[in-house]
Amino acid sequence: MTGTVRKALDARIISDHYDLGAILERLLLSAALGDFTAAKSDAKVFERLGFAARALSILSKVAHGEVPVVVAGPVYVVDAPGAVDTEALGATLNDARIELARMINRPPKVTWVDFHDGPAYANITRLELPGVARISLSRQFQVQSDWPAILWHEAAHATMFAGVRFLDEGWAVWCQAKSGVKSEFPVRNTDLETYSLAAQIEAMPLPRLLAYSGPDLIFGDLATSDHEWRSIYVRAYRFFRAIHAKLGMGGVVTVFEALSKERQDITGTLRRICNA
Ligand SMILES: [Zn+2]
Repeated sequence: MTGTVRKALDARIISDHYDLGAILERLLLSAALGDFTAAKSDAKVFERLGFAARALSILSKVAHGEVPVVVAGPVYVVDAPGAVDTEALGATLNDARIELARMINRPPKVTWVDFHDGPAYANITRLELPGVARISLSRQFQVQSDWPAILWHEAAHATMFAGVRFLDEGWAVWCQAKSGVKSEFPVRNTDLETYSLAAQIEAMPLPRLLAYSGPDLIFGDLATSDHEWRSIYVRAYRFFRAIHAKLGMGGVVTVFEALSKERQDITGTLRRICNA
């Protein structure tokens, strides 16, 4: 009986990926049957929807002129707090997004920036809508003297995204370094090659690092000290640099685009592409 119900729900969802009623019913059915993996995967649809709804609502307000914005190219800075130099922020971010998009030979994305009350280093890029990147910066992000490097880092995430945290951070740190702007995190640009990694991070097998692929898996679970935290990013940078040296930028873009579609087998996908 439940099998028939589930098949009917599956059929509805296949014919309409946004049949939210059917998705919710299937979620509840899976949960009732104790199939939490299936329930969680349906729950993710609603999670993503929450983010997308916020992005759509702000973009529509921007379009109707209801939210104060500073625009530099298609970069929208929304509701900036007084302490933030929005002109400098918009200009730096615009340069970064144009330069990075040119580097991977893809069109630059419309980018909008908003602000949160979290700590100065907590800056997040989300890709909730196709062609649009949303960068959420701390209200205090400019208290850090290397804030242009933070913008290059976030612009890198906005430009290309594998969904594999280790690769994504490697690419972002590589872009920071390539921009030539002064960086303090993970280390100064001139120390990227020589920094000695924390022993625990250096010894960690690559598949374990690559397994950190979802938005809910954070390196905070792996790093227990500032040294380890920086070491993960430096190791990610060195790994990215090695892949780039082997495949060139075109090959790297292929890897990232394949991974963003095939998350279930990260190491297999990487191996297949690197050996090809
Ligand atoms: Zn990052």
